[in-house]
Amino acid sequence: MTIRAPKGTDDILAPVARTWRRMLRTWDQITERFGYDLIFTPLFEATELFARGSGEDTEIVQKQMYSFSDKGGRSLTLRPEATPSVMRAHQQAGGSGVRKAASWGPMFRYERPQAGRRRQFYQLDAEYIGTDSPLADAEVIELGYRYLRDVGLVDVAVTINSIGDPVCRPAYQEVLKEYLKAREDELCDDSRRRIDSNPLRVLDCKVCKPLLRDAPTPVEHLCDACAVHYQTVKDTLGAVLVPFVEDPHLVRGLDYYTRTAFEYIATDLDAAQNAVGGGGRYDGLSESIGGPPIPGVGFALGLDRIVLALGDIVEEGALDVFVVVAEEGLRTEAIELVSDLRARGFRVDYDPDRRSVKAQFKIASRREAPNVLVIGEEWRDGAVTARDMTTGDQRAVPVEEVSVWLR
Ligand code: AMP
Repeated sequence: MTIRAPKGTDDILAPVARTWRRMLRTWDQITERFGYDLIFTPLFEATELFARGSGEDTEIVQKQMYSFSDKGGRSLTLRPEATPSVMRAHQQAGGSGVRKAASWGPMFRYERPQAGRRRQFYQLDAEYIGTDSPLADAEVIELGYRYLRDVGLVDVAVTINSIGDPVCRPAYQEVLKEYLKAREDELCDDSRRRIDSNPLRVLDCKVCKPLLRDAPTPVEHLCDACAVHYQTVKDTLGAVLVPFVEDPHLVRGLDYYTRTAFEYIATDLDAAQNAVGGGGRYDGLSESIGGPPIPGVGFALGLDRIVLALGDIVEEGALDVFVVVAEEGLRTEAIELVSDLRARGFRVDYDPDRRSVKAQFKIASRREAPNVLVIGEEWRDGAVTARDMTTGDQRAVPVEEVSVWLR
């Protein structure tokens, strides 16, 4: 029997891997432009970090964590999300000042696998820690939006909301509870359970949503400070030309989430998996994992979903030129040329096996190389045969002019 990848996991191979490389490269470029340093944290952490940092009352903690005991008897968990780790790392490094950190990597959740819902999946993550300024919220929202556009998603909708803070939320929760209790019979089992433990989550329930259209919303109950914060986020998004839609029922159902919540929706994907990313402000997170109060805002984008949303996008070929060796005695010279062109920044490859010229050309076509250089008898006159694979044009080019010809 052959061994297969575990359920809910994927091998990411060419040609789709080319899209992944482009997504990561674009992420690296845009986060650098926005002033985010790279951060990597462990793939596994103390289970307690996620129990407290993702929240005991979440799906993630209750049902989806890959937890295990290591040989030293510690309870560890494969990270289901990045934010608690980034905040822990910030605390561990002293916890002072502002940290803008961006990352990418696999996350692990025990899900019922389907398209766009995997057990190992990949997220891009950006966190802006150490400021409660609404300009930080607007900046991270803009970052995610620009990224999705840059990577080729045309139909992206940004939805935003404010869920208040510990000053205004308790009173709102009471109003909401009363409203929900009056409709208890119509709600699903999960929602009924949450009326007392976590009423905000009920607003977000996919099943109950249609019944709750006229429910009281957090924005109607914001205190002055939260209202001003929210207005500034919206004004700033307007100033930087990021289109958004307010969704008064968009929530993050944990106590340490405050104020801004947002999502990125790929409007041409199926509703069940059309959220390509989400985020929010988490001014209570640091304390919930045992640190001092440190504000922060951030988001995660799902790469597996972005790939789905991009559809059958045809990536540019991975090579600039393929080098064909026409005479066995010139193999070393060919390899020297390959090495030299690579050093000049061209994407170059060749066939290491001793195949015929025809077979090497076949490989060049399969690899979608737009140009081929043939190292053959003209080499002794200091030239190679250069073929433009698109037009079929072919001519002798002096070796020292090859890079000019390629450009
Ligand atoms: P979350 O961390 O749950 O807020 O999710 C942020 C984004 O990660 C979502 O919008 C999805 O794009 C993606 N995502 C979350 N869970 C999964 C999963 N199981 N499989 C694939 N993508 C996921």
